[in-house]
Parts: sequence; C-alpha cells; structure tokens
Amino acid sequence: LLYQTPEVTKPRYVRVNTLKLDVENALCKLERQYMARKDDMVPDLLVLPPGTDLHDHPLVMNGSVFLQGKASSMVAVALRPKPGWEVLDACSAPGNKTVHLAALMKGQGKIIACELNKERVKRLEDTIKRSGATNVEVLHADFLNLNTKDPLYSKVRAILLDPSCSGSGTSADRLDHLLPSYTAGQAADVADTERVNKLAAFQRKALAHALSFPAVERVVYSTCSINQAENEDVIKSVLPLAASHGFQLATPFPQWPRRGFPVFEGSEHLLRTDPTIDMEGFFIALFVRKNVINGNQE
Ligand code: SAM
Repeated sequence: LLYQTPEVTKPRYVRVNTLKLDVENALCKLERQYMARKDDMVPDLLVLPPGTDLHDHPLVMNGSVFLQGKASSMVAVALRPKPGWEVLDACSAPGNKTVHLAALMKGQGKIIACELNKERVKRLEDTIKRSGATNVEVLHADFLNLNTKDPLYSKVRAILLDPSCSGSGTSADRLDHLLPSYTAGQAADVADTERVNKLAAFQRKALAHALSFPAVERVVYSTCSINQAENEDVIKSVLPLAASHGFQLATPFPQWPRRGFPVFEGSEHLLRTDPTIDMEGFFIALFVRKNVINGNQE
C-alpha cells in the first residue's frame, strides 16, 4: 500500500473520567493489553496504538473512560475551571466536554449545560448519566436567548462555547479545504461558502454573547473546523467588544507549536491542530479578563 488512511495510522485516545476512575488505575487496566500510555500534554488522556478498538470495552460502557480525541480533550482543560465554580457550557450536546468539565471540577460547583436541539438534549442526558456527574443542570434553550442580566447567571465565571461548525477539520472527504484561505483563496464552492458564512455569523453572535456575561472571567471558543472564516475571522470580529469588557486573548497550551493563522496581531495566542499532522483539525481560543490574567500568570 502506498497510502495509509489516517484511520489506520492515527493513535487512539481515551479520556479517563476521573469522577469514576483515576488515571493511574486506568493506566494499570489498559497498559498491558493495549500498550496505553499517558499523553504528554493533557493530564487525563491516554494514548493507544492506531486501530485499537475499545468501543465496547467495559470501561467505556460503564463511563470510566470516554472515547475522545486529543484536540477535543484540550478544550475543557484550556478553560481551567476550578472546583466550586459555576460554569456554562453554551452548546453542549452530546456532552463530551460538559462531563470533562465536571471531572476537572471534581464534581464540585455547578455546570449549566445549554442545548437547543431536543433530540440532542437526550444524548446529553445520557452522557451525563454515564459519567456519574451530579453537578450538571441541563437547560433546553437557545444560548443566544439567555439573558446575561438574569440572576440565574450572575455567578457564572467561565463559559465553554463549542458552537455548531462545518466540521471541516474532522471529515475525511473535505481534504480540499486543507489549505488556509489566506494563502489558497476561497476554494469552497458557493453552497459551501454560504453554509460557512451562515455558521460564522452564528459563531460571532454566540461568542459576543458569551463575552457579555457580567461575572465571566474565562471564555473558551472552539471548533472542529479548519476554515479561517469560522476561526480567526470570528475571533478578530469580537476583539473590540472583548476589549470593551476587559477581555484579552490568552495562550492555551503555550507549548503547542501550531497557532492561529497570522491574520491579525495576537493570532499567535490561538491554537490550531492540523488534520495532516494531528489527524483532526481543531481550533481553540481563550479569552481572559485582564485583571484576572495578571493574578493568574496566563
Ligand atoms: N460540546 C459538544 C461536545 O463536546 O460533546 C459538541 C457541541 S456541537 C459542536 C454544537 C451543539 O450546539 C449542537 O448540539 C447544536 O445542536 C447546539 N446548538 C446550536 N445552536 C445552538 C444555540 N443557539 N443554543 C444552544 N445550543 C445550540
């Protein structure tokens, strides 16, 4: 074979659900049979050889580990929620990042998991149940309609915003989109461009909304898209509003080499994964309120 598909060559990851099992114990259970090892960046992530199939493994079935990729697992870690905080997951189903937040918060504090789509609310509830998290409140609502002045949200200190996106970083049939638009020009056909523009308009609104909650100190924005329009362009468009609320960009995982496309000053704070190297194209941006940055060594 001259060419191996990414499915065959990419390592598999499992995120240990530390609400149910600690990382050392998970490693013990998976080390010998599956040659699992700890990931060098995400503390609760284990790396397994390509092709490992754990989908019906007892640890997966009982929610002790979740099949979750590395880039996806970086998002909640980047938010760094503290146990006891109130955190809002704005677009949450099927809930992989929601229950990761719950684990990082050691089950303490409160997570409000907002989801618009009724069918997907069911999947969210299943995920929460499987994880054993007891501090998640599911909210079947449009995130854009949440009133930032409602006392219900007055203590929310962190928001994870992982909105609907084109998914161009994860679907194998869209490899024509690999070249960044700032070098390649818009290669997508008209329908694709329209779809991406619509998504980007929603993403901009949702991010602006997230930055408007009064007590929020940290906002993470993520997509599984490789399109500049859904990533750097969205961030750039909210910078003036973010600054007016005292937010600035911080650097999630500073040791990670792949950063945002250089389309505005500060884009080096942004994090990208590259589907040709990392097997998935993800994007992560982190906003932190200035006064908190100083006290927090961002
Ligand atoms: N964070 C999830 C995870 O890691 O499992 C994946 C989230 S998925 C990319 C985006 C979700 O946002 C979808 O379930 C979609 O139905 C939901 N959504 C879209 N528009 C929304 C809105 N206006 N308010 C709340 N949820 C929304």
